[in-house]
Amino acid sequence: MRLPVRQYGDPILRAKGKRIEKLDDRIRELAQNMIETMHAANGVGLAAQQIGEPLQLTVLDVSQVEDRPSTMRLNGKDVDPKTAMPLILLNPQLTLSRETSIGTEGCLSFPEITGEIERSESVMARGETLEGELIEVEATGLLARALQHEVDHLNGILFIDRMSSAAKASWASRLKRMQKETQRSHGRDARSLAGQSAL
Ligand SMILES: [Zn+2]
Repeated sequence: MRLPVRQYGDPILRAKGKRIEKLDDRIRELAQNMIETMHAANGVGLAAQQIGEPLQLTVLDVSQVEDRPSTMRLNGKDVDPKTAMPLILLNPQLTLSRETSIGTEGCLSFPEITGEIERSESVMARGETLEGELIEVEATGLLARALQHEVDHLNGILFIDRMSSAAKASWASRLKRMQKETQRSHGRDARSLAGQSAL
């Protein structure tokens, strides 16, 4: 099932995700729905906060992107990132390389906004699979960037926080408008919910 993607201005995007201690059907279903939602939106990653759940859960899929390559090692072995997608990670922790590069990023919670963001060139992600196995993912290229973007989400950090102040200033009016629109539609949701509970 596709889920609505929370937009900038929704306070849940600033929530730090809770560690997932128990793997149950709810988490498995959530992960499947997140993959479906990410694919439907042509995204390369989605964090649980973006569908309204403050949990340490993210899904990624870089297999459809041709012009921005990635490399991947899974538990110490080279793998073709295309065959290893979609990647589901619970409770991920990142170790970042010191070398950085600047690249363009967008975010499903910020339609129409892109930014040049400095990130580490390679990362090591340690996390758990939906089967409860511990895995180590070493990545470079787009996958390394996407992992950093998603793990930021899990900690309530958004890509606009990592833009240069000049870039952020250039988006200021659009960001303000987005925030207002999101809050207005929340007001509508709250009113319709109040109406339902009155019945
Ligand atoms: Zn994002």
